[in-house]
Amino acid sequence: MKHLLRIKFTTMTLLALLWLTGMANPALAGMEDSPTAFLAAPVQVGLGQPFLVRLTSEHPLDKVRVRWMGKKIDTSISSWNKHYISLAMLGTDVLTAKTGPHELLVSAGVGGHARRFKQMIQVNHRTYPRQDLNLPENMVSPPKEVQNRLRAERKLTTKAKNTISSQRTWQLPFYRPVPGKITSLYGLRRYLNKKPKNPHRGLDFRSPLGSPVKAAAQGQVILVGNHYYAGNSIYIDHGNGVVSLYFHLQKPLVETGDRVTRGQTIGMSGTSGRSTGPHLHFSVSVSGALVDPEPLFEKTADHFLE
Ligand SMILES: [Zn+2]
Repeated sequence: MKHLLRIKFTTMTLLALLWLTGMANPALAGMEDSPTAFLAAPVQVGLGQPFLVRLTSEHPLDKVRVRWMGKKIDTSISSWNKHYISLAMLGTDVLTAKTGPHELLVSAGVGGHARRFKQMIQVNHRTYPRQDLNLPENMVSPPKEVQNRLRAERKLTTKAKNTISSQRTWQLPFYRPVPGKITSLYGLRRYLNKKPKNPHRGLDFRSPLGSPVKAAAQGQVILVGNHYYAGNSIYIDHGNGVVSLYFHLQKPLVETGDRVTRGQTIGMSGTSGRSTGPHLHFSVSVSGALVDPEPLFEKTADHFLE
């Protein structure tokens, strides 16, 4: 009994000493106060919906890398109110993503120490309504002679949608590209001439022929083309995996390589490509996944992750 007490006493003494020397010795105090960061990410998200992930620390951050659904994004770091912040926009594509748990991994240098964060995010099923449309048959099933054209266009547009550049220029909320009301929502399960087609992976805005179309956020034009389905279209890179797409334009007013500001006129709306009348089709690609752009226009968009 006496022996046990002595051990207890010794341990207590050691702890007290460590505590005291820790207080007195900045090096030891630093060890106890090891640099940490906090990861804010949703626990569950709806299929097709975008969401934000934020790493925050009082210590300088560097080399922040976010891994989600096989994609890697090296996110920009900013400082605000004595905190270092790194923000990523992520999402799932209603066409290709699987519901269920998916792993989010974030690695970063925090005050010079390598740190890793892991969180499971549940992707929940979401029911999107059905929409029936009737179009000229040659636009629903493209004739054989356009197959090569379609293949070439798909190569260019896939590359543009998967652009992950290092400097984030996007900010929330996004600027509404045209003022007209939304006529077709994201996720609609489309049937063209009664044939099931890919779901609608963007928003359709009512927009009269020749009205100005504005950039949703600051960025750089990475593709301007006249495509079989999308007609005259513009792709803008906003950095860190976020790309906005504008389809069926009457006329683009920017060229590949141009830098644009949020709200800048980039083209005039029209009805080029596979379109039933003048409107703007607007899509947002997040690391190659076409997500629902609607939450990004909300004034409180910064909160849709919380
Ligand atoms: Zn559309």
